[in-house]
Amino acid sequence: MKRLLDLLFPPRCVLCDEVISPEEKGCCEECRPKLKYISEPWCLKCGAPVVNSEDSYCPSCMVRKHLFTAGRALYEYSSVRTSIYRFKYSGRAEYGEFYGREMAEKLKEQLKKWKPDGLIPIPLHAAKERLRGYNQAEKLARAIGRYCDIPVFDRIVFRRQKTRPMKELNVKERQNNLKKAFIIPQDVVKLKRVVLVDDIYTTGTTMDSVAGLLLEKGVLEVYTLTLAIGTGI
Ligand SMILES: [Zn+2]
Ligand SMILES: [Zn+2]
Repeated sequence: MKRLLDLLFPPRCVLCDEVISPEEKGCCEECRPKLKYISEPWCLKCGAPVVNSEDSYCPSCMVRKHLFTAGRALYEYSSVRTSIYRFKYSGRAEYGEFYGREMAEKLKEQLKKWKPDGLIPIPLHAAKERLRGYNQAEKLARAIGRYCDIPVFDRIVFRRQKTRPMKELNVKERQNNLKKAFIIPQDVVKLKRVVLVDDIYTTGTTMDSVAGLLLEKGVLEVYTLTLAIGTGI
């Protein structure tokens, strides 16, 4: 069955979109070096690359307090920009498997240190998820959870209303836009430490909104894990 599916829908490289062999596992050899992993030094708060190695925090985190404890990201956004676009808007749900595995492999040690009780994907609005057919953050979380043996909780945080696309807004507008965007209808007191999973970390406003709600519900520590982080998103 898998063979037949591979013939009908041959696997394609997540970056160049060319047909690849199953052995290449999602990304062709030419494109592999193009994946830019975040390397040290990174911001101790959000995980963004830090230019000056003497700085513990990125310029943004130096001036802004976040509600989450710490976060890490896998790639520099610029290196996976078009791929993430296809992942979200062109029905490439299968990218979640490749990218989730990458996140699990490269960030497993970090996850072990955080000792989370669960992974929580940042939700999409229900109507948007129906239209897209899936939530890319949940695809990532499911793969990470499977590889790292951490439960995924996708029925805790919900998006309450449609929000304007974040890229159209400045920081202040983003905060207002998101303030009432999420809801946690039930008690989550059994979860002490959770990791929020999303595809892109931009200003951290989305993460802070959800982290704030979780902290109000009695969660003690909220961490963030994203596929990509960068400026100019
Ligand atoms: Zn390629
Ligand atoms: Zn930072």
